[in-house]
Amino acid sequence: MKPTDIEDDFLSNPKVLEHYGLLQEIGIFKHIDNLNNEIRGYKNLLSSAVDIFNRTTIDDIMDATVWQISDHFLPSFIFFILRPLQNKETITTKGYKNYKMIDLSLNIDSIAPFEAFFQKYKKPISYDLLLEQMEDKDAVKIMDDLHPELVVPILGPSGLYSLILVGSKILGDKYNNQELNYLTQFMSFVAQAIQNHLHYEHSVRDVKTGLFNHGFFMSRLTEELARVRRFKKPASLMVLDVDKFKNFNDAYGHLAGDRVLESIALTLKTCVRTEDIPSRFGGEEFTVLLPETDKDTAWIVAERLRIQISKMTVPWMPPLPPVTVSIGVVTFTEKDKACPDEIIKRADEALYLSKERGRNRSSVWGMGLLFRLQQTKGKQE
Ligand code: GH3
Ligand code: MG
Ligand code: MG
Repeated sequence: MKPTDIEDDFLSNPKVLEHYGLLQEIGIFKHIDNLNNEIRGYKNLLSSAVDIFNRTTIDDIMDATVWQISDHFLPSFIFFILRPLQNKETITTKGYKNYKMIDLSLNIDSIAPFEAFFQKYKKPISYDLLLEQMEDKDAVKIMDDLHPELVVPILGPSGLYSLILVGSKILGDKYNNQELNYLTQFMSFVAQAIQNHLHYEHSVRDVKTGLFNHGFFMSRLTEELARVRRFKKPASLMVLDVDKFKNFNDAYGHLAGDRVLESIALTLKTCVRTEDIPSRFGGEEFTVLLPETDKDTAWIVAERLRIQISKMTVPWMPPLPPVTVSIGVVTFTEKDKACPDEIIKRADEALYLSKERGRNRSSVWGMGLLFRLQQTKGKQE
């Protein structure tokens, strides 16, 4: 083993050589060895922590955790069970062997039966001991198909997030106490990384629809304007507003209305590119920011979304009538001096025209539109 700097300094001291026999007799060298091992352990833990805190998505956190466990122990398999987080309704499971995802399955749909036990025990435990100690034997026996050697809990401020089932080591030896301590400490970092991710998501997402919220949209719009000016490529924004939604709520109730908003959100999420940013602007109004998108493309996207929304089926009994949206589209280029509020105002003006022209349609902001808008307003006055 490579000596540490402290060890080097110590051994090169002539006084140490002079009293070598005595120091050995009283166990100083053994003690230094133990301390060195401990330092090595902390260094490992620190690098694992740095790795895990650099991950931002749940999938990335899971992969990095598995990578670290594999690196340390070379287990025959790892099976990750994550309880439902955010808007998800079911648990997530992932199996790994030799750092790669493999098709492992287990007939488990909840880790709730383990919550009370691990709230007390709080650390990795051997499968056999878990089976002996837990009252609900049936819950544990579900794992028997995989027969893990260790069951590792991830506990955070809001309870048991996950169980990781770890197979026996490929090299055959058992997991020792020091290794179990490493796992306990490392899992507290993993729990923190998951918690950070949840806090972040909570701060940028709208709770009802899972889309980005107003605050996040505004900061992305500001960034997008800067990018357009820097890279000289146009971007577009569309604002969608549900038609006659007040009447809809009055006729079918607010809960049915909420379900409509959720369905629109799902349509927006699934029908745009990953780089586009669909958000809930507020109430029954949505925005989609389209980076690197010119006027013609933005119009095509708007029409595609509008038609898709008018055809969607909202899960509700008895079935609901179709809902429609009106859309306003604005495209901004590097020549534009407009600020974010001005861009939103233009999209709103285009939306207003779509409403004026009979709803369930898209309009693009432009000089012609401005003229028509003034005419329409003029007629009303
Ligand atoms: P228009 O076609 O002109 O947009 O008509 P509208 O009825 O949609 O417009 P208005 O602004 O008068 O009404 C908006 C309605 O949207 C009223 C409000 O109750 C409803 N709404 C806003 N937020 C929510 C929500 O979170 N859930 C439900 N169910 N309804 C909402
Ligand atoms: Mg509205
Ligand atoms: Mg409306």
